[in-house]
Amino acid sequence: MSQEDIAPVEVGSGLAKLLTRRPMAGKNDKGDSMEKIVSLCKRRGFVFQSSEIYGGLNGCWDYGPLGVELKRNLKDYWWRRNVLEREDVVGMDGSILMNRNVWRASGHESTFSDPLIDCKTCKGRFRADQLEDSRCLLKPSKRPGECDGELTEPRQFNMMFRTFVGASEDDSSVTYLRPETAQSMFVQFKNVLETSRQKLPFGLAQIGKAFRNEINPRHFTFRSREFEQMEIEYFCRPEQGKELLEYWLKERLKFYEEIGLSFEKLHVLDVPEADRAHYSEGTYDIEYDFPFGRQELEGVAYRTNYDLRKHQEHSGKPLEYFDDETKEKFVPHVVEPSAGVDRTVLALLCEAYDEETITNEKGKEEMRTVMRFHPRIAPVKCGVFPLLKNKPELVAKARDLVDLLRPHMHVFYDEGGAIGRRYRRQDEAGTPFGVTIDFETLGEQGDDLRDTVTLRERDSMKQTRVPIQELTDRLIQEIR
Ligand code: ATP
Repeated sequence: MSQEDIAPVEVGSGLAKLLTRRPMAGKNDKGDSMEKIVSLCKRRGFVFQSSEIYGGLNGCWDYGPLGVELKRNLKDYWWRRNVLEREDVVGMDGSILMNRNVWRASGHESTFSDPLIDCKTCKGRFRADQLEDSRCLLKPSKRPGECDGELTEPRQFNMMFRTFVGASEDDSSVTYLRPETAQSMFVQFKNVLETSRQKLPFGLAQIGKAFRNEINPRHFTFRSREFEQMEIEYFCRPEQGKELLEYWLKERLKFYEEIGLSFEKLHVLDVPEADRAHYSEGTYDIEYDFPFGRQELEGVAYRTNYDLRKHQEHSGKPLEYFDDETKEKFVPHVVEPSAGVDRTVLALLCEAYDEETITNEKGKEEMRTVMRFHPRIAPVKCGVFPLLKNKPELVAKARDLVDLLRPHMHVFYDEGGAIGRRYRRQDEAGTPFGVTIDFETLGEQGDDLRDTVTLRERDSMKQTRVPIQELTDRLIQEIR
């Protein structure tokens, strides 16, 4: 997709800045940070290679104890902002396997493909439109074609995973793992309209798995074969489409800032007509400066009424809307903000990763790795530490504190090792707050400090004394 050829768009002043194209980011200021992030993800339990003990499965990933919380917080926040806090959007959860005719009607069976090139020499398989970023398997310093390898002509490779439903494996039982969540929302349009009693404009939202047999999965979880999407189909009257496209672009940019992605690293690409799907009357790609370059996080597209029309034609079932006021009957248009869960999690990991030199508790200089997640999406909100584990009164008090906080947030209790080491472990997990129960808490240093704790803030490492009875409210406020 061309990075330069950008048409001007009339939007608010903040967005105008985003629409000014800057040069493609190479490695970011954190240098080789991608390798360090991948290593931290494994070390701390954010992301593991799928089926690792059997050598893995290319393009598939498992989320560990911290990763699953991060992902869940992201999805919950998306759901809260886009469904629970809005009267005009309702949710659904569609099946992954659908009638094959869905994919015939949508055009996926015939056209959901990427151009594939084989190298007869190194046996590598490459996406014809990504040769620039690909490497020869035998001579990694060269691109395919620059080496002596003989390349085949490009051929179209359908990216849907084919499978069979039922006991027979013949053509009549073929279907596919869905390559996007969108189609189940189009084919359920009428049921949702009738049961939810929504009026145009209204949206249907879904979070769920999608599968694409990508030719070259790469950049860690960025391009996977199994991934999750968060999509909204926002149905409207035809004359509202263009305006709603601008509206949803702004909404989605706001969301990314709310979860802690920095404004400077977010960009908007107004996709030129030649690069858009033929039915699209406008598409924006929201991009992020990853350490490996500027890449798409989300597409916001005005898809006209193409999808509903196609399903109406193929199924023979009316997918129209009757406007009570104007007495018109028509097939609604749709604006679709379509985001990747895994890509957003990766952006959150890249954004959060930081290293700094600090003077530790023993007065020595040390390198601190810290994940500066926004408290809203941090996997664990608060660490609770008794100063010493062999002092039963400290342990009991710390356990009481865990019980106090646990109904309100995800808390991690840790009594093992030096307190500095425990802080550092939570810094790598991205836990924004740490609470230490010490002898002052027990009242051993006088009544003034009884039932107070040390609250440590992850980013500044500042420590303050806080009464236990004020702690829950204070943390809840900070997290929100
Ligand atoms: P790309 O050009 O990067 O292949 P796309 O334009 O095909 O992406 P869409 O079909 O618009 O992607 O899907 C919507 C969103 O789903 C993308 O913006 C991305 O966040 C996510 N997504 C798509 N393909 C993948 C993948 N293979 N791995 C992870 N996320 C993906």
